[in-house]
Amino acid sequence: MPRDWKFSADYYSRSLYVLETALGEVAAYRSWRAFDLGPEYPVDKRYAAMPALTKQDVRQHFPQGLLPNDSDFKRGLANGEIAFVKTSGTIDSSVTNIWNQKWWDASERASWKLNSYANKIATGSHPEAILANPLNVGFISDTVELPMGKRRLARFLYLNEKTDPLSWTSEYMDRMIRELEIFKPVVLEANPSLLAKLCRYIATTKKTVFQPQLIVFTYEYPSAFHYRQIRRVFDVPIASSYGTTETGYVFMQCEKGKFHQNSEFCRVDFHPLKPEHGGPRLGRILVTTFNNPWYYIVRFDVGDLVRIDERGECPCGRDSGLILEAIEGRLTNVTLTCSGRLVSLRELDKALSVLEGIDEYRLEQPGEGVYHLYLVSQRRDKDRLSEQASEILKGLYGRDAEVSVSYQDAIPPEGSGKYSLAKTLFPVEIEHYLDENYVTD
Ligand SMILES: [Zn+2]
Repeated sequence: MPRDWKFSADYYSRSLYVLETALGEVAAYRSWRAFDLGPEYPVDKRYAAMPALTKQDVRQHFPQGLLPNDSDFKRGLANGEIAFVKTSGTIDSSVTNIWNQKWWDASERASWKLNSYANKIATGSHPEAILANPLNVGFISDTVELPMGKRRLARFLYLNEKTDPLSWTSEYMDRMIRELEIFKPVVLEANPSLLAKLCRYIATTKKTVFQPQLIVFTYEYPSAFHYRQIRRVFDVPIASSYGTTETGYVFMQCEKGKFHQNSEFCRVDFHPLKPEHGGPRLGRILVTTFNNPWYYIVRFDVGDLVRIDERGECPCGRDSGLILEAIEGRLTNVTLTCSGRLVSLRELDKALSVLEGIDEYRLEQPGEGVYHLYLVSQRRDKDRLSEQASEILKGLYGRDAEVSVSYQDAIPPEGSGKYSLAKTLFPVEIEHYLDENYVTD
């Protein structure tokens, strides 16, 4: 496993500055001082000795406890440098964050350098259309359709104002197609499940659609089925951008398909899973933000699994920071085999991807060894499809797996506005799967 990732001298000085400021001056990290090995140790080792920051910690210390003692959030709010924004989700998963627009924009600009297409076309003033759930970004209007002018903000056009994509009519999707033609976005940023839905409509009705110069996926894990459906309609480069409201832009997929760390704006600590669960290349990441004086986020558990690239180098030539083969999906999307092995969303998605004629899927695991697969498909030979799907799931989860396959007209997103492709209906504690023997060099 490659451990010789390259980082600039700046990366280490930023890491050190954030750690020492957080420990010394930010209330949320006061109790972490007990874990500090001290300044005589290398900064990587000091980080590795620290706990992880959770959403609960953020909630508990919000807002003043996440800033240095001498920073006054009221002043920041009053002069417009910061705002408070709430992420969507259940009471449990929703968090209010300190939003620093200037920092966010700078983090995004730095991430563009990690993809040649983005780097060439993204000027910071380029027109960008966004197809997302308005619960995540944009304007919500479920009862009345908003005219195009009411869905504009700066250089952005939000194509969708409805929180429930099941309410999209063909007229509504025709409006999206028309607006893409009028607006001519350079970049189309999309939630992959929603863009896939629009593309299924475009393909079925044999319509044509404006081609932007780049499609950027955010918000959700892009399934192999999403790619296939979108590729039928759009013949332009696609890049996946990975980040969170708390951390800004963390990884960007380059033109060769690997993910590069946005190391000017964040530190990433990787912690592998146990070998029997996919380690040492599969693991979780803890993210520390740089350059944001208004919000100290240190070793934040973003709740996703990633796969470290085996070779540790990329044909694109970028070599600063971690290089990932893939983002493997959220921890809340893992399932377990009959023998208890952890299966990431990507592993499941890859296995299912050989199926033809699938519009959407969702796998639920209510208990040990039991799996319910929900499919949306236009195929007529449903019995054959069910057989194929069961065979795949038994191959993945174990011959003793109790598998059921059923069909739906459409699958709704979660309350957060994002789709969940897989989940267990019981809690899975990541701590049981992490390699406790892992030490950083
Ligand atoms: Zn690359």
